[in-house]
Amino acid sequence: RVRTRFAPSPTGFIHLGNIRSALYPWAFARAQGGDFILRIEDTDLERSTQASVDVIIEGMAWLGLDHDEGPFYQMQRMERYKEVLAQLQAAGHVYPCYMSVAELDALRERQMAVKQKPRYDGTWRPEAGKTLPPVPEGVPPVLRFKNPQGGVVAWDDKVKGRIEISNDELDDLVIARPDGTPTYNFCVVVDDIDMRITHVIRGDDHINNTPRQINIFRALGHEPPVFAHLPTVLNEQGEKMSKRNGAKPVTQYRDEGFLPDAMVNYLARLGWSHGDDEIFSRVQFLDWFDLDHLGRSAAQFDEAKLRWVNAQHLKAMDEDALAPLVAAQLQARGITPDERLPAICGLFKDRCDTTVALADWARAYYADVQPSPEDLAKHVTEAVKPAIATLAGKLAAIDWTTPAIAGVIKETLSEHGLKMPQLAMPVRVLVMGTPQTPSVDAMLALHRREKVVTRLQAA
Ligand code: GLU
Repeated sequence: RVRTRFAPSPTGFIHLGNIRSALYPWAFARAQGGDFILRIEDTDLERSTQASVDVIIEGMAWLGLDHDEGPFYQMQRMERYKEVLAQLQAAGHVYPCYMSVAELDALRERQMAVKQKPRYDGTWRPEAGKTLPPVPEGVPPVLRFKNPQGGVVAWDDKVKGRIEISNDELDDLVIARPDGTPTYNFCVVVDDIDMRITHVIRGDDHINNTPRQINIFRALGHEPPVFAHLPTVLNEQGEKMSKRNGAKPVTQYRDEGFLPDAMVNYLARLGWSHGDDEIFSRVQFLDWFDLDHLGRSAAQFDEAKLRWVNAQHLKAMDEDALAPLVAAQLQARGITPDERLPAICGLFKDRCDTTVALADWARAYYADVQPSPEDLAKHVTEAVKPAIATLAGKLAAIDWTTPAIAGVIKETLSEHGLKMPQLAMPVRVLVMGTPQTPSVDAMLALHRREKVVTRLQAA
């Protein structure tokens, strides 16, 4: 059974680049009928925050990236890591190292001086026939992992292809600090084993950890999972996306009126493709998703493209499904919509790219929007005012339906010898506060008659 995981560190809020690393393992688990596990890697106590955990959980729920197990928190698993550490030590894969920080620095300097890559030299690594230095008194040691010597660590990465690293390039990793707490790479392996992860799909910033982790898997008697290392997501300036250079928290897109399915669609294409298909539903995506079509090069975020994708989903959405989302946007502005909202969404959705833009239109139906003095001066001229008065009178006396409204607009036009835009523009400005709206009869029909008549008469 396929089991994947998303393992974010809750340091800083999670942005679109991060959440893509959740989307693919989620989609793979769903597509394969497997399980998706959420694991919070909160061992960096100084930088981890609850607020960051909240954005992860809220953002995933909003996007519909549901997990089957978890969230697990690494800080709650410390006892387990120590237990496995003891096993590894008992099996002879771990040794104490007493090299002080000053000694390590000196070693590094010597290596750099002769243009060598700085690496631990194995001073404290026990070998048959080797005498170790005398153990210094009162110095708590770190524990190092006895990396295999000679040979290569290799894996077939689902994105990068075959990767082979010579073991001689890997020094003996510190897996427990002097206070006994296990280090990052060790915890990840214990978790991936305990959680029976079959496919590790993560950012390629972890690719240097992978050979070390594979060696730890084997030392613990487990074959490593399949790895897929995703290329970086770049921001619009071509830099690695990060909070520091302006990336937004994922939940902000919800507040800005983006649709979960459109986000999933857009993010899916940021590093994976299905032929030339650009717009697809969540169901299609899960039907199509596989690890064989992950892209190899870095993807670049493009907000204009995201807006376009969102607009396509918005247009395709049923007005009854759209209405609650727009209602939430209106309520956030202190406006309570009513039963007209689905029809309003239906009428305006084609000209909107977000639910916020739709709420901007809907607002005119529920609040007292005012036209700008420029629009009033330009469109509501003295010459057209008599026709506006005629129209107001006729509107007061008909059935309040789109065809009846269209009928009296026509009558007014011929009585006053006007062309459609000469009357439609001022009516739009007076009722909606702007001259650009869909067909004026349909736009009016969704308003309350009294409001329309009053506004036209006031002009
Ligand atoms: N906690 C790591 C991160 O947020 C992910 C580690 C992993 O996926 O193995 O970058």
